[in-house]
Amino acid sequence: MNRDLLKRIRELSGGRCDYCRMPRHSDPLPFQTDHVIARQHGGDTVLENLAWCCLHCNKYKGPNIAGIDPQSGDVVRLFHPRKQNWSRHFQWNGPTLLGLTKVARATIRVLAINDPDFMAFRAELMEEAIYES
Ligand SMILES: [Zn+2]
Repeated sequence: MNRDLLKRIRELSGGRCDYCRMPRHSDPLPFQTDHVIARQHGGDTVLENLAWCCLHCNKYKGPNIAGIDPQSGDVVRLFHPRKQNWSRHFQWNGPTLLGLTKVARATIRVLAINDPDFMAFRAELMEEAIYES
């Protein structure tokens, strides 16, 4: 991946994980680029299909492109950071991330964003006002 593309993805992310909004500077682990539509599903390495995310989100997302909304049981596409607006889909309740839509709830589940250890880490960062809720 060329450096200009990587730089643009980082700029678009605003220095935060495109999924859980973890600030890059507060995470000891390196952030990674994610193909929103994985290459194995035909996703291209272009700005419109790339996200910048924390290791936790990237590890759980893997090549997934869809999930099941725990409320409705519907199979839906995962959140697309380049095509969808984060704040229309997600809302904080302290360190818990709430899904306002089927897409958001499925994404939170597949990416394990409310995993207890991950939430405890986020709660610490929020207490230190490093992580905006
Ligand atoms: Zn994340």
